[in-house]
Amino acid sequence: MSTYDVAIIGSGPGGYVAAIRCAQLGMKTALIEKYSVLGGTCLNVGCIPSKALLDSSHHYEEAMKHFAEHGIEIPGEVKINFKKMIERKASVVEQTTKGIEFLMNKNKVDVFTGMGAFKDATHIEITGDKKQTIEAKNIIIATGSKPATLPFIKIDKERIITSTEALTLTEIPKHLIVIGGGVIGLELGQVYRRLGAEVSVVEYMDRIIPTMDSAQSRELTKVMKKQGVKFYLSHKVSAVSRKKNEITVTATDKKDAEVTLSGDYCLVSVGRRPYTDGLKAENAGVKITERGMIDVNEHLQTNVKNIYAIGDVIRGAMLAHKAEEEGVFVAETLAGQKPHIDYNLIPSVVYTWPEVASVGKNEEQLQEANIVYKVGQFPMRALGRSRASGDIDGFVKILADKTTDEVLGVHMVGARVADLIAEAVTAMEFRASAEDIARMSHAHPTYAEAVKEAALAATADRALHI
Ligand code: FAD
Ligand code: NAD
Repeated sequence: MSTYDVAIIGSGPGGYVAAIRCAQLGMKTALIEKYSVLGGTCLNVGCIPSKALLDSSHHYEEAMKHFAEHGIEIPGEVKINFKKMIERKASVVEQTTKGIEFLMNKNKVDVFTGMGAFKDATHIEITGDKKQTIEAKNIIIATGSKPATLPFIKIDKERIITSTEALTLTEIPKHLIVIGGGVIGLELGQVYRRLGAEVSVVEYMDRIIPTMDSAQSRELTKVMKKQGVKFYLSHKVSAVSRKKNEITVTATDKKDAEVTLSGDYCLVSVGRRPYTDGLKAENAGVKITERGMIDVNEHLQTNVKNIYAIGDVIRGAMLAHKAEEEGVFVAETLAGQKPHIDYNLIPSVVYTWPEVASVGKNEEQLQEANIVYKVGQFPMRALGRSRASGDIDGFVKILADKTTDEVLGVHMVGARVADLIAEAVTAMEFRASAEDIARMSHAHPTYAEAVKEAALAATADRALHI
């Protein structure tokens, strides 16, 4: 029987990053993945394919709606070859997952293909082409998550679908009904709206992306409405049915009035659930919470001393970069180091266009915590860079402590804010004040100037260009 210092179950961004860091720190490392392709949800059916389709559909929209204003004329009709778009996405995924295989080889991580199940706290049975058992001193559970649904919805994977199927459709829907106005619903809803589908988003709360700052929800709603997306906010879905190719979604609004929508596809995007099916965690005595998560302490250690858990299968935001930080955290803990993660500074991004990005506390959270703060906000439309590119929607908003000027939260909507948020994370990691940011030179003309201007506005209401 092969023995290891550490065995990791699941090869998503949590698991494969943990494997690399464990190997870098000199541990004999095994990585177990039930699928023949590495990379987990993120690389195969999540972050990477969704961004590939967002980019392709963005190019199409630019060609259809904005090339002309730049003086670019396309003789003849601009057409979508949807099959090719999906094939390109598949090839982006393939290149990326092959990259993980390369990294496992480079770092001498032993990869096992098959379902991993605990026999006890130090032995894992792997069922793949053959059955084998390995022994490990320490084990990291990184089994991720799966799409959640509502009790009365039967996902048929053909017309009533999750994000996984929405990434591999063979036709563009005529009318896509999206249940859930969160990250997945808005990113994939926008893809199909750009490609010509009618898109209706039914959201239970009174605003989309309800966990982000309400100003971001308002701005994104405004822009997506202009793009033709219909929103049914404060609507509770009560039934979803299918007759041949027609899907009917019934919902009730705040006044209990019934609304019926009919379309040809329904995307169910109401969140994801931690995945531990088939893991046989009970054989090792690992505790799972009522909500199906693996229970961990501040060291990401389960109730069994040598077993840790990371990523979507534990509490916290279900984000690839959060899972990666936790992978490194556990590897370094096992090596006797004292790593640290500041969960408040894990950024959130929605890759619609304009993009939406946040870090730290939003206004609602500061008000709830009775923290006295000041606001500096700057609109993208006032930037030379935005006018040059034509991306004038959005803003940067900086929230700083009223007394100390320390930056407490940064919330953005606009072009490339998914990249701009890194400046805010860096500043907040170093506990910068708004004035610290305001006094740093930002290259001109860039979208990043909006960060400086918002910081100036927060410091002493002295933004320069508005
Ligand atoms: P996963 O990536 O889910 O990996 C878990 C792996 O474990 C899987 O490969 C699974 O097959 C394997 N596994 C499970 N059980 C076993 C077992 N018993 N034996 C062997 N193998 C097992 N996050 C972002 O940060 N940015 C984004 O842009 C983004 N976009 C997304 C878009 C979509 C459509 C979706 C669905 C998700 C997106 N996410 C995004 C979320 C992101 O994908 C997850 O947060 C991330 O993948 C979690 O990583 P993980 O390692 O915890 O788990
Ligand atoms: P989500 O939690 O982002 O959004 C779910 C939405 O569905 C919420 O707005 C919620 O209020 C709504 N909802 C819940 N029940 C409902 C009901 N009965 N009727 C109508 N609406 C209802 O979840 P998601 O969009 O499914 O994404 C799942 C996870 O994947 C998220 O946690 C997210 O972090 C991750 N993800 C991240 C990215 C990214 O980082 N860009 C992209 C995609 C997914």
